Amino acid sequence: MLEVKDLHVTVEGKEILKGLSLTVNAGEVHAIMGPNGAGKSTLSAVIAGKDGYEVTAGSITFEGRDVLEMEIEERAQAGLLLGFQYPVEIPGVKNVYLLKAALNAQRKARGEGEIPAPEFMKLVKEKLGFMRMDASFLQRAVNEGFSGGEKKRNEILQMLVLEPRLAMLDEIDSGLDIDAMKIVADGVNSLRSEERAVLMVTHYQRLLDYIVPDRVHVLVDGRIAKSGDKSLALELESRGYEWVLEESAA
Ligand code: ADP
Ligand code: MG
Repeated sequence: MLEVKDLHVTVEGKEILKGLSLTVNAGEVHAIMGPNGAGKSTLSAVIAGKDGYEVTAGSITFEGRDVLEMEIEERAQAGLLLGFQYPVEIPGVKNVYLLKAALNAQRKARGEGEIPAPEFMKLVKEKLGFMRMDASFLQRAVNEGFSGGEKKRNEILQMLVLEPRLAMLDEIDSGLDIDAMKIVADGVNSLRSEERAVLMVTHYQRLLDYIVPDRVHVLVDGRIAKSGDKSLALELESRGYEWVLEESAA
């Protein structure tokens, strides 16, 4: 589904990704771990097409298409969705309008008509219930005055409504209490399917107790230094990242 090959990315003249390769198949959940500043957020930002990142070498393909040749909107329409590490506030724009506009943009790209209002409300209310969110959320401006936990839930709500092919989640566990984390994890797990994949950045093994990944990768100094299964996350928790660096340098 997603193939990243020898990716080199520069931000403001500094090389951040230094030959990163990664393959994600449909149906899989991959966790990316690694020390602060390693380039984890940069990776998902580049895949999603955020501004300010210069790809100097390598390639990204998504279902055989050259992602780097696609505009941001095309990437979103193809089903690449990035949940932000620090979700942005959009004052004055109601949550419900953003959700509907995003969903209709996708439908349009697929040659479908706009979703009828009653059908949309039914869909959103079902997903709200799943995330244990109050309907008043829909009428609030996007992320304005949301608590950290509410922003994360809202992010997952967006995902549940948009049903991306590849969801990229950056630190969805940061700032969540244990109950909120379980709800967020349930949301992500409900999206797991044969035709979808999830790429998630996390610092904490704990989240992976709830969203059990198929693969765990350690991103150190702009490269995937080590990959393994869920047990690698446990090993990282007890041993830290230093040994991975030493091993990969050897
Ligand atoms: P991680 O998510 O692994 O903590 P990031 O991908 O956020 O790491 O950042 C990797 C490096 O790139 C850091 O040194 C960071 O300071 C730098 N960086 C990322 N984005 C920017 C930016 N927009 N401007 C300048 N430096 C950036
Ligand atoms: Mg980050």
